[in-house]
Amino acid sequence: MTPGSSSDRIHVLHQIVHKVASASSASAAVNLIVDEICATLAVQVCNLYGLDSNKNAVLVACHGLQPSAEVAFSVNKGLIGHVIRNCVTLNIDDAPAHPDFLEVPEIREKHLHSFCGVPLVRNGIVIGALAVQSSSATAFSGDDEAFLFTLACQLALLIPELEQLPQGKVRKNICIHGLKGAPGIGIGIPYFCDQLQLSSAPDGVCDDLEAGIAQWQKIRAATALAIENDQKKLRGQVGDDINSVFEAYKLLLQDQALNSKVELELSAGHWLPKALQLSISYFADLFRQMPDSYLQQRAEDILFLGNKLYEHLLGNQNQQASAGQWTEPVILVGRHVSVSDIATVPTQFLAGIISFEGSSLSHTAILASALGIPAIVGFATVPEIPAEERLIIDADHGQVIVHADATMHTEYKQLFDLQQAHQSELMQYRDLPARTVDGESINLFVNTGLLADISPGVKYGADGVGLYRTEIPFMVRDSFPSEKEQIEEYRKVFSAYTGKPIFMRTLDIGGDKPLPYFPIDNESNPVLGWRGIRFSLDNMQLMVTQLRAMIIASENSNNLHITLPMVISTGELDAFHHILRTVSGQLESEKIQFQKPKVGIMIETPAAISQLAFWRKKIDFASIGSNDLSQYVLAIDRNNTRVAARYDPVHPAIVHELIRITTISRSIDLPLSVCGELASDDTALPLLLGMGVRQFSVSAAKLLHTKQLIRSVNTKKLEMLVDSASRLDSADAIRALVGKFMESNIPDHS
Ligand code: PEP
Ligand code: MG
Repeated sequence: MTPGSSSDRIHVLHQIVHKVASASSASAAVNLIVDEICATLAVQVCNLYGLDSNKNAVLVACHGLQPSAEVAFSVNKGLIGHVIRNCVTLNIDDAPAHPDFLEVPEIREKHLHSFCGVPLVRNGIVIGALAVQSSSATAFSGDDEAFLFTLACQLALLIPELEQLPQGKVRKNICIHGLKGAPGIGIGIPYFCDQLQLSSAPDGVCDDLEAGIAQWQKIRAATALAIENDQKKLRGQVGDDINSVFEAYKLLLQDQALNSKVELELSAGHWLPKALQLSISYFADLFRQMPDSYLQQRAEDILFLGNKLYEHLLGNQNQQASAGQWTEPVILVGRHVSVSDIATVPTQFLAGIISFEGSSLSHTAILASALGIPAIVGFATVPEIPAEERLIIDADHGQVIVHADATMHTEYKQLFDLQQAHQSELMQYRDLPARTVDGESINLFVNTGLLADISPGVKYGADGVGLYRTEIPFMVRDSFPSEKEQIEEYRKVFSAYTGKPIFMRTLDIGGDKPLPYFPIDNESNPVLGWRGIRFSLDNMQLMVTQLRAMIIASENSNNLHITLPMVISTGELDAFHHILRTVSGQLESEKIQFQKPKVGIMIETPAAISQLAFWRKKIDFASIGSNDLSQYVLAIDRNNTRVAARYDPVHPAIVHELIRITTISRSIDLPLSVCGELASDDTALPLLLGMGVRQFSVSAAKLLHTKQLIRSVNTKKLEMLVDSASRLDSADAIRALVGKFMESNIPDHS
C-alpha cells in the first residue's frame, strides 16, 4: 500500500508527477501513470479512462488487465460512469455487488472486488477517471484513496488530450492545445527537427584523449560555421535582436567554461558523445535552477546547441535542408524548434511552427511573430504528431489539429485563403485616411519594440509609433545597452518614421518582463513589485542614460514623446521631471541642440485614473495601457493560463473605468490614446470611439483591419452604443450587443 509517512507519500507523488511531465510521448505518459500507481499502491489493476465527444468513457491505459478489444461505454453506465457523471470518488469493497456495476465483455474484471475510482477534472470539466481495483474484499484505505485523489488532481493538468489516445482506432479531428506563440493559420506537412537528441547519446570509453580533444575542436568549429550560415540566411529578414540570438550561440560555443568542461569529461574517460552530453546537461541545469524565468528559458538554447553539436559529431545533417528540396509548405515540429531550425526552411515554404517547449517570451515565438509565421509553443506534455499527414495549426486558438478529416481540411483551407485574401484586400486601406463616416480624423499608430517590427508598421502606413517598448532591446541582450548603443537603436525608429510622432516608453521591466542580467529576486508578487517607473527611478543612472539617448536620437525633430509606465503617484512624476531637467542641463552644457520632449503617462492602474486631474500640469498626454489596466482592475494575472479564460478586457468593470478615464480627460483637456491590445479588439474599438478616443496604437499586423473598422463607423451612433453597453453586466452581453450593432450598422466598407 502507500508509502509510510506523509512526507514519503508527498515525495512519491512528486516523483510520479515529474515523470509524467517529462514523458517522451502522450502514450508513454498515460502508460506510466497506470504502471506507477500499481507499483506505488501495490494493487493488481489500474485503469485510466478518457471521455470522447459522445460522452463515452474510453479506456486509454490499463495495467493488470488485457482488454480483448477497444473499451468504450456510455457514462450513464458502470462504476466509472458513476465517478464521471457525479464527479465523485467511489471507494467500495465489492464492485460487482454495486447497483451501477457493468459487466464489460472486453475486460474480465468480475474477480476484482475492491474498487476506488476518482474523477479527473481540468478547468472545471471532468475529462476522465482513474481507478484502481484488487481481488481483496476490503475497500482501499483512506490513505490510498487520498493519495489517488490528490494525484488525480495534479495529473489532470498534465496528461495529454485523452480523447487522442483510446487504444486501437485512430480518432479524427483531434485538437491538441498549446500556447499561442505567433498568430495565424498554417497548413503543411510536418518537418521534424532536433530528432537527434544528445540526451540519448550512448556511453563509451575515451581511449585516446588527444584524438578526443581534436575531434571536439573540429565539431565545435563546424557547428560555429553552420550557425554563421543560418544567421546569414536570415539576414535582412529579421532585426538585430534576432541576430543577437545567433551571436549568443556563437559566444556559448567559444565559452572557455564549456570547453574546459568537455575536456574534463574526456579526461575522466568518457568518449566524446557522453562528454558532450554531461557538459551540456550541466550547463542547462545551471540555467534551469536560476530564479529568473527568462534565464531559465536560456537552458533551451544550451540544449539546442548540444543537439547541434551531436548532429555534427554524427555527420548526420538534415537531408532535405542540405539538398534544398523544398517542394511544399512545411510545419516545423520539435521539442525545441530553434532559431536555427527556422533558418533552415525558406520562409515561402514555412507554414507554421510547433515547438513542444517554450513560451511566448521564447526566441522561437519572437522570431515567428517577426516573420509572420503562425506558431504554437509550450505544450503541457509532448503531443503525438503524426509524421505522415498534413497538419493544421490554428495558432489564434493555440491548437494543432491532427487526423483532420476532409471537412475539417476544407474548412481550414477556406479560413487560410480568407486570411490571405483579407490581408491583400486590406492593403487598399494603406494610404486612405483613418477617418470615420462622420468625418472624425483618427491617429492610427503602431506599437513596436522589436526591430523586426519596424518595417511592417511603415509598410502598412502607420501615422507614427504610438508605443515603442524600449525594454525589448534591453531584454534580448546580456548587459545594459550603453548610451551610444541606445542612440543607434532609437535613431532607426526616428529615421523609419521621419516627421512622424514617436512615443517612446521608458524602460518597463519587472513583473512579466525580467532582464536576464539584472534578476529581481525574492518577490512573492512581481506584478505588484519593482517594475516600470519604480525600477527606473531607483536606478536613476539608467533613466539618465535612456533619456539622453532618446533626446539625442530625436535629433532636434520635435517628434519625441516620452511615455512613463506604471506611474501611480505625483512624487514619481516630480522625480522624473527633476531627472529630465538634469539631463536637459547636461545636454545644453554639451552644446547639443534638442527640442524639449513631450511627457505623458501610461494609465495602467486604478490609482492613475483617480489622480489624472492632479497631474494635468505635469503631463502633455496620457495613453491607456489596457493590458495592465485590465489585469489590475480584474485582479487577474494576464499571463496565467489557468485564469486566462476569465480575463476579458471588455468586462463591464473595465468599460466603466474607460468611461471614467475619457470623461476626466475631456474635462481637463488631456490628449488621450489607447495603446494596449484593447485598441484592436473589434468590440472595444467601437466603444472607445464612442467614448471620444481619437488616437490608437496597435500592432502592425492589426493596423489595416483597425483602419477598415474605423472607416466604417459613425461616432455619433457609437456614443449611444456606449450608453447601452454601460448598462450591461457581463462581457458576453457587451460583445453580443456590439457585434449585433456592427452587423446592422456597417454603412460602407470602402
Ligand atoms: C499595457 O499594459 O497595456 C501596455 C501597452 O504595456 P505592456 O503590454 O508593454 O505592459
Ligand atoms: Mg503595461
